[in-house]
Amino acid sequence: MKKYLFLFTIGPVQSFIAQARKTHDLWAGSKILSDLIEYAIYALEEKVKTCKIIFPHKEIKSKPNRFIAIIESDDPKGIGMDIENKVKDQLKKLSFDIVKKYANFDISEIFFEQIENFLEIYWVILPYEESDYSELYGKIEGYLGSIKNIKRFRQNSLDCVESYRKCSVCGQREALFYRKSDKKPRNISFQAQEINEFRLNQGESLCGICFIKRFYKTKSSSFSSTAKIASLSWVEKLTQVEIKEYKDFFKNFDEELFFDENLRKEHLIKYDHYKDDENLEKAKKYLNNLYKKYGVPSKYYAIVMLDGDSMGKWLSGEFLSDKSHLRDFHLELSKKLGEYTDKTKEIIEGKGELVYAGGDDVLSFVNIDHLLFVMKNLRDFFPKFEEIKNVKNRNKSSASMGVAIAHYKMPLSEVIKWARKMEKEAKEDKKDKKDAFAIAVLKRSGEIHKIKYKWYLNDKSTVDIIKNIVKSIIDKKFSSTFTKALADELRRFKYDVNEKFIKSECKRLLKRASNPNGVSLKSNEIEELSDKLLDLFVESYSLQNFISTLNIINFLSKEVGELNDN
Ligand SMILES: [Zn+2]
Repeated sequence: MKKYLFLFTIGPVQSFIAQARKTHDLWAGSKILSDLIEYAIYALEEKVKTCKIIFPHKEIKSKPNRFIAIIESDDPKGIGMDIENKVKDQLKKLSFDIVKKYANFDISEIFFEQIENFLEIYWVILPYEESDYSELYGKIEGYLGSIKNIKRFRQNSLDCVESYRKCSVCGQREALFYRKSDKKPRNISFQAQEINEFRLNQGESLCGICFIKRFYKTKSSSFSSTAKIASLSWVEKLTQVEIKEYKDFFKNFDEELFFDENLRKEHLIKYDHYKDDENLEKAKKYLNNLYKKYGVPSKYYAIVMLDGDSMGKWLSGEFLSDKSHLRDFHLELSKKLGEYTDKTKEIIEGKGELVYAGGDDVLSFVNIDHLLFVMKNLRDFFPKFEEIKNVKNRNKSSASMGVAIAHYKMPLSEVIKWARKMEKEAKEDKKDKKDAFAIAVLKRSGEIHKIKYKWYLNDKSTVDIIKNIVKSIIDKKFSSTFTKALADELRRFKYDVNEKFIKSECKRLLKRASNPNGVSLKSNEIEELSDKLLDLFVESYSLQNFISTLNIINFLSKEVGELNDN
């Protein structure tokens, strides 16, 4: 039997995952893809017992959307077709299971079409010789790219106009399931089914694919809502008795009820929390007392996206002194990325919710108190590919990150878009150095602050510098009005701002920024803080970036309850 190199991918990835109204949609999107790839690998191993999976590492729980394997066979094309069909059947099977459980199985043909047409599966198989793995690898990636282009072109020409109501989540496909508000959603297909389930919002209508996402594995996982992530560290301060007593005022509980803006009769009725007026009044008083005791919870949370830099170059062997070792390098690399996945889970545990960690790619929700800690650790523990044998001198792996901080009520797809946009901005670098992070704070008022920094300035961690300044304000060492005053000065003198100016203005304004008890900073503290701010200024890409940094420091010092170091 001859040997072959087999590359198999499923998609769509980005659009499928990002089309989400609830955090569960987001989680389920990536989980479905990961489960399908895992299933594909399983199917291949069943069919070709001798196959060797190079990517991804077996231990990785959330799998990336592709695998590479070496197989032995007399009918490679047959194997490719077979795995493709099995994956498609698996998606059909899990879709039917969900429909059987939650809807009327006597369902429109369009549902089957939507499921059938959804997956984009691409694979390439090439004859394999041990000696030219690196050349083959380059070829196989190249072929995959051209196949995708051809198919995309064909699909575009297939788009047609439909007259029925589109899905509320993806806006692409015809809606086939809905939940009434007071009446049926307008213009909905006569074939659509009414679903009376709390997982659908009133008035929401879903296509087949988004319906499957909404109900995928709801039993085995209850993925936190944005309100839960935002209130996470605040709720930890409450006693079990307090939580129980408060929950008892409502019919069904949801973490949104920790925010007093939601304690309105119509809101409670709409989301099925309402008991009676008496309980509502009691709840208001109870929550008010909790606020007095523990402070008010932040309504903001963060979406964090991390992505390994220059992964294409690493994978193609560009950084190796000898490309004939590429296969071994790939095996080592996938092992390291597997270990990183475990580490990622550890870092985020109890601080937010991990959507996926599939190798060099991480997507997570993070509570704002823990954000700076999580950011720094995700970067610091990113695997060092240079430790693998045969990496050329001075080439080092790195990763960049996009962060979007948003109000828990902001549409989720919008927040994801921002996180992705920031990740892209972090990676934009004239010298191709990358290794940076970018944060956007999306305020409820519509105001947006964006910053971008390299992770390290010489040996100093930029995240730590920001964290220390925020901590000084939270610890009431000085007043947050300082950041406003400095930003105003900088705007006023923008053409004359240089390092000397920053240093002297920082000192002057810090001297005046006594804390709320009227105590001023000691001169060594002023010196230290001015130095930190100067570091940030030197690291800033522009004056605007530095001014936005002051705004974000100010924002964090107000929203963060307690800055945790672990
Ligand atoms: Zn949809």
